Amino acid sequence: MNQPKNPTEIARETLKRLAATHRAPTPENFQACYNEIADIPAKAPFPEPQLRHLAAALPTDNTAQKKQLSNLNAAISRHSWQGVEKALLGYLEGFAVVPSEDNVESGGIQGIQGIQAIQGLSAEFLEQLAGFFESVLTPLVSEGELESDAVGLLLQALRKSPADLQLVRNLLADLGHQMQASTEEKAQIKHSLLKLLHLIIENIGELALDESWLKGQIDGLLAAIEPPITLRQLDNMEQRLREVVIKQREIKRQSVAAQDEMREMLAAFIVSLAAMNKSSTSFQLRIEEGARKIDKVRKIEDLSPLLRDVIEATRAMAEETSNTRNQLRSMQEKVEATEATLVRLYAELNNASAQARHDPLTDALNRKGLDDALAREIANVRRRNVALSICLLDIDNFKKLNDRLGHEAGDKALIHLANVARQCMRPNDTLARYGGEEFVILMPDTTLEDGIEAMTRLQRELTKKFFLNDKEKVLITFSAGVAQLGVNEDGTEAISRADRAMYLAKRAGKNRVIGG
Ligand code: GH3
Ligand code: MG
Ligand code: MG
Repeated sequence: MNQPKNPTEIARETLKRLAATHRAPTPENFQACYNEIADIPAKAPFPEPQLRHLAAALPTDNTAQKKQLSNLNAAISRHSWQGVEKALLGYLEGFAVVPSEDNVESGGIQGIQGIQAIQGLSAEFLEQLAGFFESVLTPLVSEGELESDAVGLLLQALRKSPADLQLVRNLLADLGHQMQASTEEKAQIKHSLLKLLHLIIENIGELALDESWLKGQIDGLLAAIEPPITLRQLDNMEQRLREVVIKQREIKRQSVAAQDEMREMLAAFIVSLAAMNKSSTSFQLRIEEGARKIDKVRKIEDLSPLLRDVIEATRAMAEETSNTRNQLRSMQEKVEATEATLVRLYAELNNASAQARHDPLTDALNRKGLDDALAREIANVRRRNVALSICLLDIDNFKKLNDRLGHEAGDKALIHLANVARQCMRPNDTLARYGGEEFVILMPDTTLEDGIEAMTRLQRELTKKFFLNDKEKVLITFSAGVAQLGVNEDGTEAISRADRAMYLAKRAGKNRVIGG
């Protein structure tokens, strides 16, 4: 038996044998000869040509596959089996990106894979799948969105043993088309309904006699039905409209009551006037009669009853006049009181209308209010050629706060933040609620650096002014992005830049301010 040799001896002997057998000392020849001498089993060479052939035959239906094919070629060049394996797996995943019709129909690679995959699935799993489809698709059938036949066949195909993949695939494709058509139809219906609603709301605005107090509500409603529509937004709007309707009804009731009252008073006054006229006519007649009689009186004692008559008539006349005067005064007082009530009600209504620009929870401006304020501020800073900084801040981990302390505490936290922000801001700054727990602050006459500084100050204030929830001190932090309005930039673009900076602040670990 040969003595085991050490690697140096084997290498030396390998070189000798290569020379003796006139073989070139290439790495492959050296390796093969070395293995022979060291008694190492021959290793199959890397099948580069075959793999290249295979790679050339692979179709590329999408970019994911193209990328993996180039990875595959690179791995073949490196003779890396690991690379080849990775690229091939990636390539197969590429079929999931865009299914190729050819592959489906001809039962190509995807078909073969799918069949193998589904055959490998347990009956239990397929039953679970069928159960899932049943619960999800049956309601859609009852709503008329899917044909019950197709759903029934799909469930049958999944429950059949062995499952028929091709049938399952075709039925799924069919159901997919049906769902797509129904979704498109729904989207169209929604779009048309919204258009109709727009039209109705605009018309209400046109028809309103006194548009000033309705305008705020109409604007708010139009903003509320701008997609994407949230239920919260609609609830809010509904509540406000209800308030306005109630107030409007009250005004109408009071106006009608006041009109009725005035009509009654006028009628009564006319009656009094008529009575007065009658009594003054009778007064005149009595005086004339008295004068005639006086003319004929020859004795002073005959004058006395006549004078009594005249005095009596004059007294009755004076009483009548005073009654009418009193009546007039009380009428005037009543009219003034009714007028004052109506003025107060109109003022309340105007206030409700102004509310449409404010977020009712925090009293900050809402999106509509922000749009108006932004347009105003931009016009203002452009005219005066000064800077405007816009900050977008988003409370950190607010969902956790809601989950831990409840939604009501979350609401109070939002109010707290808005209050601290208002205390901290300058009089010309504007606070708006941009979304759930996101606020926008407009800072005119403020450069980017100053804007960042102002927001850092607000952060510090929040660490000093804790939010107290049932005696528990809760620290609210936020991440913010600040952007200074560019020369040719509009408000939306500047807010987007602030939003991107805010996102970076979140990514960088939250509770920080970043300039955009
Ligand atoms: P991040 O730090 O990444 O901003 O996390 P987050 O939890 O603050 O943000 P996320 O967007 O995950 O959750 C926001 C939460 O804010 C979810 C939502 O319920 C809550 N929210 C939005 N509007 C209101 C509101 O008016 N009141 C209350 N209480 N919660 C609200
Ligand atoms: Mg958010
Ligand atoms: Mg947040």
